[in-house]
Amino acid sequence: MGERRVALVSGANRGIGREIASQLAGDHAFLVLAGSRDPEAVDVIENVVPVQLDVTDPASVAALRERVEANPGRLDVLVNNAGVYGTPDGAADSDLATAHEVIETNTFGPWRLIQAFLPLLRSSGSPRIVNVSSGAGQLADMNGGYAPYRVSKAGLNVLTRTLAADQVGSGLLVNSMCPGWVRTAMGDEDMDVVAGRHGTDREGAYRLVHADHPLGRPAEPEEIASAVSFLAGPDASYVNGVALPVDGGAMVVDPTATPSLFGARSDAS
Ligand code: NAP
Repeated sequence: MGERRVALVSGANRGIGREIASQLAGDHAFLVLAGSRDPEAVDVIENVVPVQLDVTDPASVAALRERVEANPGRLDVLVNNAGVYGTPDGAADSDLATAHEVIETNTFGPWRLIQAFLPLLRSSGSPRIVNVSSGAGQLADMNGGYAPYRVSKAGLNVLTRTLAADQVGSGLLVNSMCPGWVRTAMGDEDMDVVAGRHGTDREGAYRLVHADHPLGRPAEPEEIASAVSFLAGPDASYVNGVALPVDGGAMVVDPTATPSLFGARSDAS
C-alpha cells in the first residue's frame, strides 16, 4: 500500500457520503474506507473498501478501529458524514427521547469516532477531520422546525472548534462543513413535507424554499463533496476550526430585505 493516504467516511453508502467517498478515491487517490450500517450497500469502485459502521454503536466503532489498526494500519482523514434528520418539531414540542436519538447519531456519533481514531490520526503526518454539519446548526427557523437536528449540528460545530483548540501540537486540522439544501434522500424527504403543506410537488417545493436564495437552487451532492475534498486535501493546510458554509450564499441573506418582499428575482421561473 506504500504511503497512500487513508480516509474513513461514515454513511458512505448513499447521498453526500457516497459522493465524498468516490471523489476522495478518485481525485485525491485516497484509499477510502466506506463506512455503512450495511457494507453490501456500498458501491464497489477502485480505492473504496466497504466497512461495517454504525456510529451509534460503541461495539461497531471499536471493531472498526481494531480492523483499521490491523489493516491498513493508518488513518489520515476522518469524514464524519453519517446523519439523521429527525422529526420536524420545534424546541417546545420535541419529544426528548427522539431528540436524544438525533443527537446520539449527529453529535455523539462523530465524537465517538473522533475518540476512537485520534490515536491513529495523530500518527499521520497530516491528520484531518471533516465534520459534515449543516447551516441548520447556525440558524433557527421561525416555523419552529427541526429543533433536535439544529441542536445536534450546533453541537458538532462546537465539538469542531473545541478540538481545533485543544489538540495543540498534533498537527490535526479539524473543520466543519455546513451545507444548505442538498438533493439527496434527506433533502427530498423534507421537500415532500413542504410540498404537502403548500399544494405543490417536490420540485415546486425546492423552488419555493429557494425563492430568497442567491442561487435559487439546492446543491447537488457533488458540490458538497468537493468542499470536503478541499478540507481533506493539501490546499487546506492552514484552515482549522471553521464551520465553512457551502450553501450558495444562503447565510448572507438579510431576511428583512429579500427579493420576495421587494421584487421578483430576475431568474425566477
Ligand atoms: P441521506 O441520503 O439520508 O444519507 C444519510 C447517511 O447517513 C446514510 O448513508 C445513512 O445510512 C447514514 N447513517 C444514518 N445513521 C447512521 C448510523 N447510525 N450509522 C452509520 N450511518 C448512518 O442524507 P445526506 O443528505 O446524504 O446527508 C449526509 C450528511 O449531510 C448528514 O450528516 C446530513 O445531516 C448532512 N446535511 C444534509 C443536507 C441535505 O439537504 N441533504 C443539508 C445539510 C447537511 P443508512 O443508509 O444505513 O440509513
